[in-house]
Amino acid sequence: MAERLVHGMRIVIDELLCVGFGDCVTAAPDAFMLNGEGIVEFTAPEQVAPDVLLEACRMCPVDALAVTDARGQPLVP
Ligand code: SF4
Repeated sequence: MAERLVHGMRIVIDELLCVGFGDCVTAAPDAFMLNGEGIVEFTAPEQVAPDVLLEACRMCPVDALAVTDARGQPLVP
């Protein structure tokens, strides 16, 4: 698990779920990258607009990117 607090949102990567299709990387290449094992990692999500970040997380087909708001309410998935 890796997490970042960005734009008042908490984004959590579950590396065990990620299958490396890269949809999130395509949607937000400044926020995510695939590491040498083909698993997603954060790059600079704070540089990406909140709506773009959210949409990138929503694109994950296996719900490996979870987002909650400042109150802990789930935004994605
Ligand atoms: S979209 Fe999901 S499965 Fe695909 S690389 Fe991103 S986190 Fe991994």
